[in-house]
Amino acid sequence: MAPARVLVRLPNWLGDVLMARPLLYALRAAWPGARLLAVGPEPLLALLAPERGADERVAWPRDGAARRAATARIRAWAPEVALVLPASFSSAWLAWRSGAITRVGYRSEGRDSLLTQALPRRPRGERHLSDEFLELAATLGVKPVPVPVLVPAPEDVRDARAVLDAAGVTTGERHALLAPRSAFGPAREWFADRFAATGKALVERGLRVLVCGTAAEAESCERIARAIGPDAASVAGRTPLPTLVALAASARLALCNDSGIAHLAASTGAPTLQIYGSASSAWTAARGPHVRVLHRAPACSPCWQRTCRIGTRCLDAVTVAWVLSETDQLVKEAG
Ligand code: SF4
Repeated sequence: MAPARVLVRLPNWLGDVLMARPLLYALRAAWPGARLLAVGPEPLLALLAPERGADERVAWPRDGAARRAATARIRAWAPEVALVLPASFSSAWLAWRSGAITRVGYRSEGRDSLLTQALPRRPRGERHLSDEFLELAATLGVKPVPVPVLVPAPEDVRDARAVLDAAGVTTGERHALLAPRSAFGPAREWFADRFAATGKALVERGLRVLVCGTAAEAESCERIARAIGPDAASVAGRTPLPTLVALAASARLALCNDSGIAHLAASTGAPTLQIYGSASSAWTAARGPHVRVLHRAPACSPCWQRTCRIGTRCLDAVTVAWVLSETDQLVKEAG
């Protein structure tokens, strides 16, 4: 029998939350009468609001007292089923504390006794993370369904227009997004001078360039924008995630590293190039209707390191010429 209330403990990273969208859509299709409660970091929950990825959302705070209050709220909601996407002990503990009778997650960190179905996990990279999340629900008979593109809310489109205006991009001009940073570290960041060279070539192709990132990345994004020239601007730190969704949805192209922004852009349907470094593209490459993953993995790949001691050969193998060739083909295909 279909459950009436389903708790989904979402992952804590932007890209991983977007890779959980297929699971949310599958749950919705399998159990149309069920209410879905999503639990995760507040800024990431906001992404799911416009498409009703969940009926209710509870922000998962960092502070212990606030977590206890959130746990009490979740328990009062009385979920029947809990799907635990993160591998942490604490997320399985939350599922157990919620009172859900059925609690499904992957085995790890000695949490098996907190779950009613603790699935063995294949070695990292053997299977895409989206498919791993779907596998959790498959144990309950839930099947994958097509996933639509992520559509920005009207107010976010307005905010994006204001960002474009401030960057000097007029209505009718097309823009490309460059996302040159990665929260994980330099072993996942293609080189700044190559981003700048690619940005210049995109300007020559008639595009305005917006360099995106967090507030903490603003200085490096500014440097790249300056190196590209007057047709580029940094918007780092000035784009809350919903605004970034709207900027991506209207972009002619997004050039990103192995970062959450790549998943965000790909989810909107924007033509997206994603450059891979130290991680496994088989595990977490962005998915969407128009995505190209640029990954030339040397024998040492994937090493999963934040920094490389042998000169990031994986990233060095990605040339500007290759990126531009893929860009031209991708943009042509996307129409
Ligand atoms: S060790 Fe290999 S895979 Fe890891 S960052 Fe360095 S070159 Fe890339």
